[in-house]
Order: sequence, then structure tokens, then C-alpha cells
Amino acid sequence: MNQDTSPRLTELNAEITGCRACPRLVEWRERVAREKRAAFRGEEYWGRPVPGFGDTSAKVVVLGLAPAAHGANRTGRFFTGDRSADFLVASMYRTGFASQPTSTHIGDGLKLRGAWISAAVRCAPPANKPTPAERDACLGFLRRELELLEAGVVVCLGAFAWDAALRLLRVRPKPKFGHGATFELEGPMLLGCYHPSQQNTFTGVLKPEMLDEVLRAAHDKAGRLR
Ligand code: SF4
Repeated sequence: MNQDTSPRLTELNAEITGCRACPRLVEWRERVAREKRAAFRGEEYWGRPVPGFGDTSAKVVVLGLAPAAHGANRTGRFFTGDRSADFLVASMYRTGFASQPTSTHIGDGLKLRGAWISAAVRCAPPANKPTPAERDACLGFLRRELELLEAGVVVCLGAFAWDAALRLLRVRPKPKFGHGATFELEGPMLLGCYHPSQQNTFTGVLKPEMLDEVLRAAHDKAGRLR
């Protein structure tokens, strides 16, 4: 497993973290970082665009929507330091993609094996809703990331990520998102999975075994690509 050893991915990540192309999102991510949530008052928030991370030889990309205001926008790493992270990374551990079941902060020892975690939009958006223009402005980063990784499988966490991946692949008409949905034509195979947000995990819409099943399917597919 190679963590952060690809010069071109490092270069891309440096470009991402310096981006200020979307004024509304720049204002929001920085305001959240200044004002903070009471529970994290003593912490320094990241407050910038969040780069992807993981195994640079990964064939599986786990794709979210955007950084959570007090999750990745605080910690600087996707799916790190909140309930969604607890749910996703525990599943990645059970299915062999993660070295440990928790993801709390950069430097916590988490290593990914055969997987890379990213998102369609790199800045925390108000109400978790980027505009179509913000999504389109950011998709170029994802395109380059998938090309550099030569990704074979993209696990799309939620309809927004599914839609973003289909836009990159220029698929029309777009196949409908659903948990367990698959799409494969040219480019990476897409696997649909409900997002591990509290809205889904607290209500039982997404259960641990459902996420495990999708990640195991991604593992199988990636194994066939090698
Ligand atoms: Fe740049 Fe993407 Fe953030 Fe917009 S959302 S400012 S394109 S990193």
C-alpha cells in the first residue's frame, strides 16, 4: 500500500488545497472554521478544500458528496472525525480496505489498502448542498484524480456522487441511483451506495451489512481488474 507517494497526486492535492474558485464556498468554509462548533472550540479547523487520500495504487475510489462542516472541514481529511466517518471506516476495516476501524484525525495511524477516499466537491457547502455551478467547477479535480489512479471502481455514496460520476463519464440518459445500483460501460464501474450520513444510519436506511456488501463487491471487482 502506497500512502502519499505519487508526485502527480501530491501536485494535484496541492492545487486542490489552494483553490478559491467558488466565492460562496470559500466564504462558508472559512466562516465555519472561524466560528467553530462549541465542542471543538479549542481546535484549529482546516477550513480549506479537502484533497483525496489513501493508497496511491488503489483501484477503488470511495466517493462522497463534499466535506462535512465540522468533519473534514475541521480535520482536513475526508470521512474523519464525525459519525459518518465512524460508520464508513468501520466497514472499510471489516472489508479489508482500512488498517483500523476508526478515523478521528490526520496522524491517527489510519492507512487504506486498495482504496482512495474522495468527494465530488472539495469545500464544505452550506446545508451540504453545492450549487450545480460549484459542482461543475470542482469536477475537473475528480476527473484528474480518477485518471491518475486509473480507478477501476467508484463507490458512489449517495445520489449526488452518483450523478457527479455519471457527468464525468458523459452518460445520457443517466441510470437511476439506488443502493446496490451498478453501471459499467467505458471507464470505471460505478457502484451505488446510500450515504453513511446520520440521517441514513440512525434510521436504519443504511445498515452496516449493507455497506459491507457494496464494499465487498468493489473488492471483488477490483481483484478481477488486477
Ligand atoms: Fe475550488 Fe472545488 Fe472548492 Fe470550488 S469547491 S473552491 S472548485 S476546491
